[in-house]
Amino acid sequence: MPSGTVISIAAERFWKRAARARLLADRYPASREALVYFAAVSEFQAGSGDMPQPPAPLAPEYLDRILRETEAQPSCEHVPQLGVLRPQGDGKALSLACALCRHEWSFPRTKCPACGSDKITFGSAEAFPAVRTQLCETCKTYFHILDLAADPEIIPEADEIAAQPLDVWALDQGYTKIFPNLVGL
Ligand SMILES: [Zn+2]
Ligand SMILES: [Zn+2]
Repeated sequence: MPSGTVISIAAERFWKRAARARLLADRYPASREALVYFAAVSEFQAGSGDMPQPPAPLAPEYLDRILRETEAQPSCEHVPQLGVLRPQGDGKALSLACALCRHEWSFPRTKCPACGSDKITFGSAEAFPAVRTQLCETCKTYFHILDLAADPEIIPEADEIAAQPLDVWALDQGYTKIFPNLVGL
């Protein structure tokens, strides 16, 4: 395939998140294995090296998903994976990001994206000052929100994987992730 602008923009995105994942792997030993894998997947998606071996068996749909994301398929049903908070006026605005194409859309901060309930609570951990985990008491789903106002260095899909200890905590409380990330959590 001839090289072109579209391809290099996509590759740059994958390189950036690979670099961020490798930096976070040094910072968060508990999430290191998942971050190193995610970095290698992102480098493969950028066009370098082979698809890495996953640290734990991943369902075949994840491998399909990595390829789908790499190819940036035009039609997408936009399943929310994570939330991003950005400064807006005196406050912060929430966007949800698609797990497959990374498209973002704005969403109320007081609702569950899975069922629309307003019975939501939040969890956090000292080690992740820019991450909040939003839990729904109605449908028992959860997802992570990355606060770019608190840390502008954040690359949402990499920092979401670094927050793996919050996944372990939420799963342990009986919640289910709204949509699993690329390392299967
Ligand atoms: Zn999408
Ligand atoms: Zn819900």
